[in-house]
Amino acid sequence: MPVQNIVLLGATGSIGASTLSVVREHPDRLRICALAAHSRVEEFCRLAHEFPRAKLCLYDPKAAKVAQEALGGRQVLSGMDGLLELVGDLEATTLVNGLVGSIGCRPTMEAIRRGLKVCLANKETLVMAGEIINRLLDEHPRASLIPIDSEHSAVHQCLAGRPTSEVESILLTASGGPFRDLPEHEFDSITVEAALKHPTWTMGPKITIDSATLFNKGLEVIEAHHLFRVGYDHIRVLVHPGSHVHSLVQFQDGALMAQLGTPDMRLPILYSLVAPERVALSGDRLDLAAVGHLRFMEPDRVRFPALDLAYAAGRAGGAATAVLNAANEQAVALFLDRKVSYRSIAKLVETCLEKAAFSRHPDIDELLAADAWARRRVTELARVETLS
Ligand code: MG
Repeated sequence: MPVQNIVLLGATGSIGASTLSVVREHPDRLRICALAAHSRVEEFCRLAHEFPRAKLCLYDPKAAKVAQEALGGRQVLSGMDGLLELVGDLEATTLVNGLVGSIGCRPTMEAIRRGLKVCLANKETLVMAGEIINRLLDEHPRASLIPIDSEHSAVHQCLAGRPTSEVESILLTASGGPFRDLPEHEFDSITVEAALKHPTWTMGPKITIDSATLFNKGLEVIEAHHLFRVGYDHIRVLVHPGSHVHSLVQFQDGALMAQLGTPDMRLPILYSLVAPERVALSGDRLDLAAVGHLRFMEPDRVRFPALDLAYAAGRAGGAATAVLNAANEQAVALFLDRKVSYRSIAKLVETCLEKAAFSRHPDIDELLAADAWARRRVTELARVETLS
């Protein structure tokens, strides 16, 4: 297999760290040709020293300037133009998109246009613009899109190249988050600290809150719909507290295929880079005898309204999922800032979806406009809520 030259976006985040760990284990076939991060100058400069030939970008222009000085004048690009320039590097064969939020959308589109392999951790790309991404993939058959999200990687592994016409349903597992067993009357007093404690996975703050509201699973339902081109009636969510089974595929003959493992993001990242091959990876192995039992249950749609909101937005299509995604991002940011309560997150998103006027077949500019509208709207609604 030829050497892959990787553009890594989100290098200082948790996906970035896991990607670099995988790259360090396979230096003969995986190389870093470009690194981008948001604004963490110190960590970024350390990586820049480790990969002296990599092109560099910090999304935040002030941070980029500071880093460029710290690196003795070595060029550090900035902003969306900088990200797109990295993706356009002529050496690049592969994009690992570990950006958080809707800023990951344009780099993904650019990579597909350039015929790259896109290893996608940035689920917002598909939630926001899944229809456009699929159209682009159809127009650029040299490009490919492989999920890093652990559930979707599991589905990809279970499918093992079989066409989705043979699939009866996709079953996405959910840990259920820290409030899985919390009685409904206690939901009003959920704190930021409690919501940031995920029972099984260690991840960034935005996705950890999304796991506590089940918005993460809702976004993943939409992500699965676009990735595997399967209708919403054929995508189910199954609560599985142990997070040992990362997801399942039910085939039309009744066979149920599952992928199991430890909660280590390095596996889906490595798999996305080398699939359909399987290559060695260090680390713990799942000990089924030690696990003993596997528990599954239906999700509680009353305590976790995010799930139905996501299905509704997905079925509405068009810009509805962009509004859902942006409204949630903004509401989560306000919650982390202690400006709104845990319960307000889903309420703000719901109100925003009710108020939105959706274009049925939006282009990317309309989607970005819907995204910006939803963020403004949530901020306004939250202000009213705080005043009342
Ligand atoms: Mg996931």
